[in-house]
Amino acid sequence: MSASKSTSKKKSPSQAKSNRHQTRAVEDYLEQIYNLIEDKGYARVVDIAQNLGLAQASVTNMIQRLDGEGYIIYEKYRGLTLTDSGRKVGEAITRRHQLLTRLLRHFEIDEATIYEDVEGMEHHISRPTLEVISALCEELDANPSLLKALQKRIEEQS
Ligand code: MN
Repeated sequence: MSASKSTSKKKSPSQAKSNRHQTRAVEDYLEQIYNLIEDKGYARVVDIAQNLGLAQASVTNMIQRLDGEGYIIYEKYRGLTLTDSGRKVGEAITRRHQLLTRLLRHFEIDEATIYEDVEGMEHHISRPTLEVISALCEELDANPSLLKALQKRIEEQS
């Protein structure tokens, strides 16, 4: 378990792909931990496992890795806290999650679909695109006739 250090050496496509998967997993964990701490004041392995639909043993492994990489501080009997860099990632992903959810809730999409799509998209959005989505949300809220026109167009498409 000591493979990937974040050196900037050239990576083969398959390495790059596996790193993306790891980044996504790291982001999902930090998002969950950030939300648990915001909501309850603490994050327990059992809650993280439940929210991510994973076994506690795999969560414990990942928690140790996140500790090793400086995202969290984990003490077995005292629980875990986010470091500054862990909090930054958790907060950024949570913001993206909230913004994307806010956009999609303007339309007739069921909550389960929104959640699933947002969980995918939140890892793949650049800052400029986020700003566009943010402006779009603002405009949709400020301009009901624009929203209506869009909803109508979508209805006609389907
Ligand atoms: Mn999310």
